[in-house]
Amino acid sequence: MARIALVTGGSRGIGAAISKALQAQGCQVAATYAGNDAAAAQFTEETRIKTYKWDVASYEDSKAGIQQVEADLGPIDIVVANAGITRDAPFHKMQPEQWQQVIDTNLTGVFNTVHPVWPGMRDRGFGRVIVISSINGQKGQFAQVNYAATKAGDLGIVRSLAQEGAAKGITANAVCPGYIATEMVMAVPERVRDAIVGQIPTGRLGEPEEIARCVAFLASDDASFINGSTISANGGQFFA
Ligand code: NDP
Repeated sequence: MARIALVTGGSRGIGAAISKALQAQGCQVAATYAGNDAAAAQFTEETRIKTYKWDVASYEDSKAGIQQVEADLGPIDIVVANAGITRDAPFHKMQPEQWQQVIDTNLTGVFNTVHPVWPGMRDRGFGRVIVISSINGQKGQFAQVNYAATKAGDLGIVRSLAQEGAAKGITANAVCPGYIATEMVMAVPERVRDAIVGQIPTGRLGEPEEIARCVAFLASDDASFINGSTISANGGQFFA
């Protein structure tokens, strides 16, 4: 029977590539998004993957949204916590709101996404939790104290869930992408982007599909003994 997969932020960028890769692997996929209705509609038209709109920063909205997904598709077997944002500023200029928005979305958002599906996974004795962290959670980054804190925190979530879920047939793993050519990175000024590419031994940005293939593997039955791990896909920029 087809596995049911939920991908937050699954309508654009890396998330869209993940949704498509899981669909290609035979999963029935639900993709969520925050507010870009046009992108979500285009994504559904292109893929026939159903999209759902809620803010991962809200526990109540996440719980209600997940209930709806499960009513439509069935119990969720695979959850990919991918939705994330940046609000960059050097620390001395970072505003408390910039800190809080990123914490609420990238860190609390992972709790809000995984917590409602966890009991069902435990009951059914199977689950795959995959969190999209970041190279900058591994190494830190100028002007990203907020973002790096959340992405490092995501690794703590995964390593703890791995221990709690193992006896119940659940694995929890992270993927740490390096710099990937999505709108998030293309929004960085060209001068800064060129400097970033200069630090990547491969000499280019990664493609969303290169991250999606890591996720599809972790979600597959082939990855059954991989638990609490991190796949770093960064073109050789950083060895964790
Ligand atoms: P994009 O900005 O291209 O897409 C982000 C997706 O997340 C969109 O679907 C967006 O919805 C959704 N989203 C954002 N905030 C929320 C929210 N509060 N609630 C629900 N959905 C939300 O991002 P990327 O594809 O570049 O990044 C995906 C993940 O990968 C992020 O976690 C990011 O931190 C991580 N990452 C990205 C890297 C990169 O180089 N691009 C490098 C390392 C990690 P909507 O379309 O409605 O805005």
